[in-house]
Amino acid sequence: MKRPLIGTSWKMNLVPSRAEAYCTQLKPLVEDLHDRTVFVLPPFPAIPAAVQVLSGSNVLWGAQDVHPEDEGAHTGDVSAPMLADLGCTFVEVGHHERRRDYREDDALIAAKVAAAQRWGMTAILCVGEAARLPYGQAKAHVLVQLQFLDRFDQGKLVVAYEPAWAIGTGAEPAGVDWVASIHAVIGGRLREAAGPADPAAVIYGGSVDPARASDLISCPGVDGLFVGRAALKPEVLADIAHARLAARS
Ligand code: PEP
Repeated sequence: MKRPLIGTSWKMNLVPSRAEAYCTQLKPLVEDLHDRTVFVLPPFPAIPAAVQVLSGSNVLWGAQDVHPEDEGAHTGDVSAPMLADLGCTFVEVGHHERRRDYREDDALIAAKVAAAQRWGMTAILCVGEAARLPYGQAKAHVLVQLQFLDRFDQGKLVVAYEPAWAIGTGAEPAGVDWVASIHAVIGGRLREAAGPADPAAVIYGGSVDPARASDLISCPGVDGLFVGRAALKPEVLADIAHARLAARS
């Protein structure tokens, strides 16, 4: 079993001064967790607050996006070397909201994974169906989103299964059996690509809250949890991060 990974993207929430207070509150609440990794992905302007407060703690930080190129004339964009310079461990790419709002496709997202990995960071590659689909179609959908997998360093990759129908306000939470069945597909594809090496971890995101955290993280094939809304309160992220891990085969 992999070391569980539990983290949050704040999306476009928490101004930098609030981010500092969040991190200050979170740090002591999770300092007892030695058997799992906890991370936060603030918006770009709030990353320095995370660096300042979380350096030396057991909470890691990262970013929610990256430009595929390392430098140049790309107004408003942020590059992988900038994020690496801020000590980011993780870079999220391919979230449903970026695919939807900026029409990001799998080729662009693959270039972003490569940029993050080139600079020594772990890419969190989000995959998942936009709408509820029958199992066969959902499986095909995530496999297409993993079409460039063989180009990636799996040692610096996490795949986040985040079905869009299960994320955000008014979403329908995914059942544990569904989550386990799609994680099995993703895990199988990762093992095939990894060969004798260790495959990447697969974490689940979508309406995760303290009530469902233990069941979800105990699902076969689920290596961790990626939390949105619920984790905008540090005490709730800490609660989820303490989720009991049932024995898994
Ligand atoms: C997300 O959008 O990545 C997410 C996990 O959202 P939420 O937990 O709010 O459903």
